[in-house]
Amino acid sequence: SVPLGFFGGIGAASRVGVLVKGSNYLEALARMETIVFDKTGTLTKGEFTVTGIYPTAVTERELLEMAALAESYSEHPIANAVKKAYSKTLSMEKVTDTEEIPGHGIRTRIDGRLVLAGNAKLMKAEHIVYETNDDIGTVIYMAVDGTYIGSIVIADRVKPEAKEAVAALKASGVRRTVMLTGDKAEVGEAVAGELGIDIVYADLLPADKVAKVEELLGDLSGKEKLAFVGDGINDAPVLSRADIGIAMGNMGSDAAIEAADIVLMDDNPLKIASIIRIARHTLKIVT
Ligand code: ADP
Ligand code: MG
Repeated sequence: SVPLGFFGGIGAASRVGVLVKGSNYLEALARMETIVFDKTGTLTKGEFTVTGIYPTAVTERELLEMAALAESYSEHPIANAVKKAYSKTLSMEKVTDTEEIPGHGIRTRIDGRLVLAGNAKLMKAEHIVYETNDDIGTVIYMAVDGTYIGSIVIADRVKPEAKEAVAALKASGVRRTVMLTGDKAEVGEAVAGELGIDIVYADLLPADKVAKVEELLGDLSGKEKLAFVGDGINDAPVLSRADIGIAMGNMGSDAAIEAADIVLMDDNPLKIASIIRIARHTLKIVT
């Protein structure tokens, strides 16, 4: 049977806006040694803004319109930034056969022409000859019918509480802080450096994230536990694989909330240190 103190712990967590789906997760939290964060939407706001438009053969406006059309069916934070920057109503009837390729970008048809909008990995996979853009930020490369037409750069910002959250976790005795991202290494390392995250793995596809978490789980000894914090639809398999899956509930996808063991209702990463304190206090009462 579950000792009464655990119910008190779950209640205390809910009063600070954290849903804990079982008392076993409080016990696991008190023994967390490694915490793994997904980058976009978890440590960063996931609110990108366009910072550069670099067409080769078309105008800036045309490049932006093409990108906005390509992204019109996507809910990815990148897609929302492009649509916001274009800001006009989109003729979505022109857009057909849209495919969103996880960790790569969009492959679709606009007026029957094959349009690609995504990262360098997508350009390589589709054999597009493109010009590397070294701007700081996330780069969306664009191609039409096999020809490169330019790039758009967007930048995200770290959440205001993220740095303090990482420091608080380290102060509470968490030994390893890790960030996983599908973004390129330069962006991943810049964010990790700013926040004091120990280890970064970049250029990961959703399946690579599961493999990394399994590798990190293998490094644990005895009763040590690993938590993963994410928000996206692609994060669901990683949330399930971790000892403790923590989802950001406010912006998070339904799939992520469903797969998670713990849900932070207001997306504030500082809440993780708060529930560790609650978990340890609860354990002291119970045992
Ligand atoms: P993260 O791991 O930071 O949460 P994702 O796994 O969602 O990021 O995406 C990884 C990368 O794949 C992005 O940085 C981007 O380069 C590319 N990408 C994913 N979705 C899109 C999209 N809708 N449009 C353009 N690029 C995309
Ligand atoms: Mg993500």
